[in-house]
Amino acid sequence: MSLNFGRPQLSIPGPSIIPERVLNAMHRPSPNIYEGPLIDMVDTLYPDLQSVARTKHTVAIYIANGHGAWEAALKNTLKSGDRVLVLGTGRFPINWGAMAHSHGIDTQVIDFGMQDDVCQNKVADALKNDSNGEIKAVLAVQTDTASSVKNDILAIRKTIDETGHDALFMVDCIASLACDEYHMDAWGADVTVAACQKGLMTPAGIAFVYFNEKAAQARKRVQPGEYWDWVLRTQPYIFYRQFDGTAPTHHLFGLREALDMLVHEEGIKNAWKRHTTIANAIWAAIDCWGSKGSLKHNIIDKAKRSNAVSTLATGAGNATQLRNWCQKNAGLTLGIPLGFEGDDFDSHFRIGHMGHLNPPMVMGTLGTIETALKALDIPHGEGALSAATQVLANHS
Ligand SMILES: *Cc1c(COP(=O)(O)O)cnc(C)c1O
Repeated sequence: MSLNFGRPQLSIPGPSIIPERVLNAMHRPSPNIYEGPLIDMVDTLYPDLQSVARTKHTVAIYIANGHGAWEAALKNTLKSGDRVLVLGTGRFPINWGAMAHSHGIDTQVIDFGMQDDVCQNKVADALKNDSNGEIKAVLAVQTDTASSVKNDILAIRKTIDETGHDALFMVDCIASLACDEYHMDAWGADVTVAACQKGLMTPAGIAFVYFNEKAAQARKRVQPGEYWDWVLRTQPYIFYRQFDGTAPTHHLFGLREALDMLVHEEGIKNAWKRHTTIANAIWAAIDCWGSKGSLKHNIIDKAKRSNAVSTLATGAGNATQLRNWCQKNAGLTLGIPLGFEGDDFDSHFRIGHMGHLNPPMVMGTLGTIETALKALDIPHGEGALSAATQVLANHS
């Protein structure tokens, strides 16, 4: 018999839970798109989007998902025949590289596997070997949503600088923006790509490309085509051109509300801290479960884990069962594994912990996972919920 009756809980790494306030802000008739409140409101989004990424540089807004932001970043800076260096931690940078390849861009991939972050020596070697400067951009993710590894973006910047290489540094913050601490300007990213449906708590459909002066110069040697051209979208803000057609009206009102919550009420630094505490609570629970049996976090070193998502390894064959049990009996949706195949698929799952989350939601997810471990007789250590509450209690 199922206990699945109350409010369902989505604990996948994107889309994340949409706050009622964001949903309510979207519940309105279609606005005038030529003058009036929508146009005035959109101008207010830009400074807040800059604040979230800690940048004074320009941000273009696209009606797109994360893949659209990837494409926009590539099209505005690169052309067929250029080469990119892909820092392949987990799956997402590799997929971004595959997209570049589909545009005729030569891709040089360093595959760091499913359990590691970027190894700086390998990046340095690849850049030093490129004596003709054929590599035009370095593509990296801050958080890889498949492995849940977090890269040290500032360290990669320093590596690029130490080699004296001139490539653009392009960083995917789609999973991590507003969850993991990020400073676009201080950490020296030339381009940052992001989307609205993860840390920014808004229904999927808006994407962001931030670019600095160096990236703006790169734009001059390419032809991105009208739709992706970030110049049209940012200089000057002519409303209809800014979206190359009808604006994503309701999404923009939703995003306004989400930014009010994150930037003006909670504060972005507090949002990072909340995510850190919640992530640590989840990891404390995982450590306890793993004290008996074979459950463990996919990334051993806590300093290399993302605040936004955790990938768990369960040992032989029970992660799929566990996810199915939670879905069917408890209304909890856990994340399927990405980048793990065959038997590895059945022995991994992901917990999304990005965005609109508080202790009842986190403890609900952890408590439900523990219930499934018991119901399915999966060996695990005790004390996980108590350990998680202690971490939450220490948040100050
Ligand atoms: C979710 C995600 C993407 C892809 O975003 P879509 O909106 O699904 O296209 C890309 N990169 C990272 C790191 C992500 O987490």
